[in-house]
Amino acid sequence: MPDKSRKDKFEILTPQGYEEGDKPKKMKFVKKTECDRCGGCCSASTPSLHKEDMDLFRASILSFDNTFTIREGELFTIPGDEETYQSFIELIKIKPKEGTEECLFYSGDEGCTIYEKRPSQCAAYACWELNDAMTGLEAKALRRKDLFGDVELITDIIVHHEERCSYQKLADTIEKAAGGDEAAAEEISDMLQYDAFIRTYVTEKFNIPESSLDLLFGKPMTERIKEFGLKVEKEGDGYILMPLNTKEAKSTTPGLKSRAC
Ligand code: SF4
Ligand code: SF4
Repeated sequence: MPDKSRKDKFEILTPQGYEEGDKPKKMKFVKKTECDRCGGCCSASTPSLHKEDMDLFRASILSFDNTFTIREGELFTIPGDEETYQSFIELIKIKPKEGTEECLFYSGDEGCTIYEKRPSQCAAYACWELNDAMTGLEAKALRRKDLFGDVELITDIIVHHEERCSYQKLADTIEKAAGGDEAAAEEISDMLQYDAFIRTYVTEKFNIPESSLDLLFGKPMTERIKEFGLKVEKEGDGYILMPLNTKEAKSTTPGLKSRAC
């Protein structure tokens, strides 16, 4: 008979010291078998939303202010990881607290402040098991067309923005520019200008608050272009594109740490 009590316990020898008799110290872990609401996952990342989380928008728990979009093809890096990743689909996520990875809804005192109504990815997440948050994500993921599909004008603006400024188009154009194509450099500039223009336009024309722009159009491309090794600098009345130095290139995307999707 296997010793069932051993299944959830691990003893790991550590190089951190010795007990009496020169025996190496052991570090003991008790494996979790259920969520104890320690907040580990909530401090490290924010969830991607699924279609079934639409109800949280209807209930005003989630809003255009506390969510943002990662656009298809967007490049991102994860703190502590040197690799650059690319989002293969559009994702909508809860915003992290400013300058951190921690979910907006996490409180050190209370834990998740919307626990009973938390998004489906949070409810399904079990840190003690092998998680594959990517499984079925393409079908499950909430997208902007789910949120704004009934508002034709906004949908048209989002679609037009994607046509003019998709990350795939940006990546292709940067490659052409790197090969010496001057027209491509001009095209990158046009994309960045249009991305900036459309944000101001919808804010002024439709009175949409600035806090909703990261959901409507994703993060500003002048910021996200860093992941492509470029930065935008002001020069006189205009802006110029510059290559990033190595230190700057290590900027990261908040909210994407352990649950990279
Ligand atoms: S699922 Fe998250 S909150 Fe629950 S025990 Fe694991 S790390 Fe802590
Ligand atoms: S919604 Fe709640 S459970 Fe989900 S990451 Fe945020 S604080 Fe944690």
